Amino acid sequence: MLNSRLIMDLDPKAQPICAAHIAECAKEGIEIIITSTWRDIEAQDALYAIGRTPGDLRRRVTNARGGQSWHNYRVAWDVVPVIGGKCVWEDPILWEKIIAAGESVGAEAGAKWKTFPDRPHFQHRPANLEMADAFALFTARGTIFT
Ligand SMILES: [Zn+2]
Repeated sequence: MLNSRLIMDLDPKAQPICAAHIAECAKEGIEIIITSTWRDIEAQDALYAIGRTPGDLRRRVTNARGGQSWHNYRVAWDVVPVIGGKCVWEDPILWEKIIAAGESVGAEAGAKWKTFPDRPHFQHRPANLEMADAFALFTARGTIFT
């Protein structure tokens, strides 16, 4: 099971966007840390099971099963701002700036998703690629970019 926080584990096409996102936040005086980059299918299934396994009372954290998250294809990263060494999950204005910074460098923001908004989530993927086509591409070539 692989659940990386390393930028170098992102696709070479996504790495510079992620790095630019961090730099853009830094320019605004905002420190963000990366909490997740590449998750393999097994790690995604484990995440999906949270709150869905009998006796597991935790809140569900994702609607994506293994293979249904862009993290599985090395093109997504999750962030959290840090102030004085502490993660800041609840500060809407701070998050707005982080989302704007991500979009300004060409990342898609999970915060803008209609069905299951995911505020810490950002991604950079081929524009017209459907999730359904990503698995075969990634399995065959190790990247979803052509
Ligand atoms: Zn994510």
